Amino acid sequence: MTARDPSPIWHPFTQHAFQPEMIEIARGEGAWLETPGGNRILDAISSWWVITHGHRYPPIVAAIKEQAERLDQVIFAGFTHEPAEHLARGLIEIAPQGLSHVFFSDSGSTSVEVAIKMALGYWHNIGEPRHRILALEHTYHGDTFGGMSVGARTLFSAPYAPLLFEVGRIPFPSPGHTQDTIDVLDAVCAEGSVAALVVEPLILGAGGMLTYPAHVLTEMKRVCEAYGVFFIADEVMTGWGRAGTLFACERADVEPDIMCLAKGLTGGSVPLAVTLCPQKIFDAHRSTDRTKTFFHSSSYTANPIACAAAAANLDVWKREPVAERIVNLTQLQTKHRGTLRTDTRFRNVRQLGTIVAFELNAPDAGYLAAIGPKLYSFFLERNVLLRPLGNTIYVMPPYCISEAELDQVYSAIGDAADQVDRWAAS
Ligand SMILES: *Cc1c(COP(=O)(O)O)cnc(C)c1O
Repeated sequence: MTARDPSPIWHPFTQHAFQPEMIEIARGEGAWLETPGGNRILDAISSWWVITHGHRYPPIVAAIKEQAERLDQVIFAGFTHEPAEHLARGLIEIAPQGLSHVFFSDSGSTSVEVAIKMALGYWHNIGEPRHRILALEHTYHGDTFGGMSVGARTLFSAPYAPLLFEVGRIPFPSPGHTQDTIDVLDAVCAEGSVAALVVEPLILGAGGMLTYPAHVLTEMKRVCEAYGVFFIADEVMTGWGRAGTLFACERADVEPDIMCLAKGLTGGSVPLAVTLCPQKIFDAHRSTDRTKTFFHSSSYTANPIACAAAAANLDVWKREPVAERIVNLTQLQTKHRGTLRTDTRFRNVRQLGTIVAFELNAPDAGYLAAIGPKLYSFFLERNVLLRPLGNTIYVMPPYCISEAELDQVYSAIGDAADQVDRWAAS
């Protein structure tokens, strides 16, 4: 590629005016990405939170190859296949109690769309129309219109704001104000016609890696139960061990009514998502009256290759000491968290399982803070991939990262913090 021959590609969440050149990656292995020239970059954000065991994890790669040799794709209406059947049974086996059915889609965003449609479809089909959806402040549930609607209204969604549907907004359970969250939720539910509450359990990802206590999640579920409101857990980021347990809801003893999974579902290898629901939602759509059908699909629903990759991931969880690896990584992260907490250059140092996040004390803050891109470039110069949300830095590595590799990440962060005053002066 030359300057006269620019790429026709429009990249996601990318301001091409500032970032005209992309870094080409030719290979991935374990916690590393490699350029065609052989430069290695440490992937400290699991390639946007998807890679769990590591890049090109052998059993998952093998399953993809094997399935590609047998069946690549088949329409999923009226047809089924072994990888999907096997995976669905495996998911129900490990999912929280009460979840009995699996609906496939392709991304976290669509899994949330499906969850909302399932909830609304239930109330519609049983003849008790409830249309209100509730969601937490600062939350992120994807970039489709439904996902944007339930997500926080930010500069990301500003151009589309007039077309987003209205959502009952529940205050974020910030320290000292957790009871407000529960009280507002209770009051809004009491007004009636609430179909569902959508939450990111225990940590809000794109909203700034904000954490909240498990008892708040437990309480929110209790309030929903009292009003017959569906509790939708968007575990797209938190699932598959990221929060320390297989699903974050486990940490609060919460059994969601509907659960969304994507990202780590295939170990991060290929796109796939699922929305799990209970018998009663399935039954409300199962009828000799065709108008009650769940009218949702995408062309690649339950793609066999993606299902085989996800089934292989389930197998890895069953056969390999994944939980132990997560405990080890969590302990390493706790050690670094402790060090950061004694360092005045950082504040709000927080951890949930394998994720550590904190704010860098910098003159400007917020997502568009000028410090964000500077940090990003600085880390890349040190061959570390970190993608700060403004002055919020988070470390979310694949579980295979070694102690020495993680040290390298934090050493780059320490070096960056040393630069802040110099950047501010320039
Ligand atoms: C990433 C994410 C989504 C969207 O998933 P995509 O696969 O990017 O569509 C939805 N919810 C949460 C909590 C996420 O972190």
